[in-house]
Amino acid sequence: MTRRTFIQHGLISASALILMPSAVASEPQVMTVTGPIAPEHMGFTLPHEHIMSIFGGQPSRIARYDEEKLFATAIPYLKMLKVFGVQTICECTGAYFGRRVDLLRRISQATGMQMLTNTGYYGAAHDRYVPEHAFHETVDQIAQRWIDEWEHGIDGTDIRPGFIKIGVDPGMPSDIDAKLIWAAGKTHLKTGLTIVSHTSGSTDAAVEQVAMLEERGVHPSAWVWAHAQHVKDSADLPPVARAGAWIGLDGIGDKTLMHHLDVLRALRRFGVLHRVLLSHDGNSFRHGNRPFKPYNAIFDQFIPLMKKANFTDADIHLITVENPRKAFAIRIRKTQPQMNADERR
Ligand SMILES: [Zn+2]
Repeated sequence: MTRRTFIQHGLISASALILMPSAVASEPQVMTVTGPIAPEHMGFTLPHEHIMSIFGGQPSRIARYDEEKLFATAIPYLKMLKVFGVQTICECTGAYFGRRVDLLRRISQATGMQMLTNTGYYGAAHDRYVPEHAFHETVDQIAQRWIDEWEHGIDGTDIRPGFIKIGVDPGMPSDIDAKLIWAAGKTHLKTGLTIVSHTSGSTDAAVEQVAMLEERGVHPSAWVWAHAQHVKDSADLPPVARAGAWIGLDGIGDKTLMHHLDVLRALRRFGVLHRVLLSHDGNSFRHGNRPFKPYNAIFDQFIPLMKKANFTDADIHLITVENPRKAFAIRIRKTQPQMNADERR
């Protein structure tokens, strides 16, 4: 029986969740680029956006931007989003494709928008943005680099990651993808940071990650299936949601509204709205002359459509406020150790 059939039969979803306080605080907290906040202060959250990236360009450890242009583009836009009620953005641009935590902090301070940045490496896009050292280092060594960013700050600043961002290519994980998944699991068990994984439409890659993490003691509720809207069959999503994982429906824009609404309706039918995250995967400052990818359709267009489709205010609050708060609160989420045969008798 493959892992896919396992999860479809619900056999993987039985593991109980054990919550542990993270190493730094007994109360769960959320880490923003300007410091820790209480999860209740996240408010309306966009859990997967990019303020800027160099995606499509050459990988670079510390990306350079035309800062004046970046600020002139991002700051007024974010101020507008704040007026519409967005309070927190999880910035998913990873190391080597444009993460600049110093600039994010300046933008956060200039706009009052709370922002989370990330640690981790992005192994999708055929590993183009995975740094050389990750190919020859051990899982422990890679995890230690990420844990160091949590403990000491990123790129010489005191800015700490608010989550772990990884990416994998479709299908069964390659060697390097497996390393990144395990390193993310190790980092989670040490820090309590949530793992956001660019997995896209590959159910095999999703199920395999959940299983690999569970085998190492990480509960699925510490894992977000990013870009899950790309699955061929929405029926693949509920078993993974029921196992406890977060289903990231990002990529909402003008042209995808009906598709996203269909997926969301399916998830409502399956009774798993409490595991759903909604975002645009927007980007206000991209590499080269790539156009601005807006991230305002959720409140301009999508929420009105949800209301027409009889989603209640409570549903909308659940998805845009409560789910992100639970998903990104820093807590070590362990699986219950499997009972051995003697105990079971
Ligand atoms: Zn993204």
